[in-house]
Order: sequence, then C-alpha cells, then structure tokens
Amino acid sequence: MAMPELPEVETVRRGLARFFGRDRPRIASVRRSPLPLRAVRWRTVPLARLAGARLVGVDRHGKVLLLRLDGPATLALHLGMSGRLLADRGEAPRRPHTHLVLRFDDGRRLRLCDPRRFGSASALAGHPSGADLGLGPDALDHPWTAEAFVQAFAGTRRTVFDALLDQRRIAGLGNIYVQELLFEARIDPRAAAGRLARRSTARLAARVRPLLEAAIRRGGTTLRDFLDPSGHAGTNANALKVYGQAGAPCKICGTTLRPLRLGGRTVTSCSRCQRTGRSHTTRATTRLLP
Ligand SMILES: [Zn+2]
Repeated sequence: MAMPELPEVETVRRGLARFFGRDRPRIASVRRSPLPLRAVRWRTVPLARLAGARLVGVDRHGKVLLLRLDGPATLALHLGMSGRLLADRGEAPRRPHTHLVLRFDDGRRLRLCDPRRFGSASALAGHPSGADLGLGPDALDHPWTAEAFVQAFAGTRRTVFDALLDQRRIAGLGNIYVQELLFEARIDPRAAAGRLARRSTARLAARVRPLLEAAIRRGGTTLRDFLDPSGHAGTNANALKVYGQAGAPCKICGTTLRPLRLGGRTVTSCSRCQRTGRSHTTRATTRLLP
C-alpha cells in the first residue's frame, strides 16, 4: 500500500493549476459527507462557509494541498492513503466514495474521492503557511544544505529513516522517497539521525531535490491507488531503486537488496552501498528479516 507523497501531491497541484489556468472561479456550493477531519494547529471554519469565495491559488506544503481562497480562507486537502482529487466541468458521472464536492460558478467541479476514508479536508481561516500548520520545511522548495539537515535532526535519538518521515522536521517525504533518498545518499536507514557526519547530511541535501524533481517529471509513483486528476498514471515506479525491491540485485553494486524491519515498516537497503552511519545505528529497534 503506497500513499501519495510529495511528488504525487505536486503532480496533482500542477494538474489543478493547469485545470484552472488564470481563471479565478467562485465556489458556488460545497457538498460534503462527514469527513475524518485531521487535527490542525490552526483555526478552522465550517466548510460550508467557503461558498462564495474565489479560488486565487493552488499551493502545496509537504503532502498537503492548499487551495487559497479570497475571503480569505484556505481549503487544506490531505489525500490520505488512497484519496483522489478529480477535476471536471460538471460532466463526469457520480462516483462512489465521494466525500467532498466543490462546484464552481463556471460549472467546474472538484471532487475528493476516497474509498478508505483517510483523506480529509479542512477549511482554515486566513492563508496559513506550512510552518503555521506545524510542518517542517518543504522537502522540495526549501534550500536544503548540510547545515539545514543537521538542524532538522537536532535533538532526536531516532534513526535517520524515522527522522526523515517526521513531517515536523521535513515535510513531504514518506516511506517510498525516504528509502530512495537514503540509497542515493548511501546512508544506512538505521543510522542515528542526530549523529550523522556533515558529509552525510551534505549528501542528503544534494540528493533530495533531484530525486523529487525526477519523480515529478515522471508524474509520481503510481502503485495501485494513486492517479492524477486527469486520470493518467505516473511512471516513477519503474525508476525505484530500493523501495519494494527486496531480493533484487542492487543497481549499483549487484548485492542482493535486503529487507529490514524498522519502526514497524519494511525498509529495503543495500548493505554494501549504504554503510554510512553504521557505527551509530540504533540496534534496539531493528532486526533483519529472514
Ligand atoms: Zn549496492
């Protein structure tokens, strides 16, 4: 089960930006079924209150889509595990598991569909930033440096794998791209984040943006559930080097990739390429799978 991460959400954001172009339609109606509202550290307003507001921009921070409305208000959308945001001009048929329908005054429509109901929508007062919402710097837009990663990992005793997943430290990465990033940066997923050498955080800083940009160019990683608003599947799954590749040979050195159990997740890595930080691994939480 793969959930949308930054490249998938950014693909959706770009699709929405194309869909709306320079138009600034007004929300004519908001129809919702009870959604599991996610706790946000920001003042919320009832979703129905958004009717009448104009769409003035489509932003993203980490994995959260932020539809900026005049008024001002922001509609924050989380796609959850399997949520899809569908955009049309009012002609597409009804779909099951539709939890939110925004109808605009020019006939356009946005629908949030999610059979598993982990997606959520929150109407926020004003135009809060990612930091306002308790999120760390964006994995793509932030000018990452070795020092910025040292700061992001300050004070944690967790593994670098766990720390990179923590949205309060760096926003946007999930299970797939953390595994890929650690492979690119040649860091053992079990390494203690707070004890990484400067040259290791420098490699993270150098690799994170190219990794995400390449995935966005491919339209994201489509594994079963995720589709962009226009219905096209991304092709990044073909480019994954370690995620889901246990048992296959490493694309760099040929060593068989092994799965580890780390913090309740299965993490695949190359024992030969990813040696950095091994002397500082937090062994208590890990064991090799058979
Ligand atoms: Zn290798």
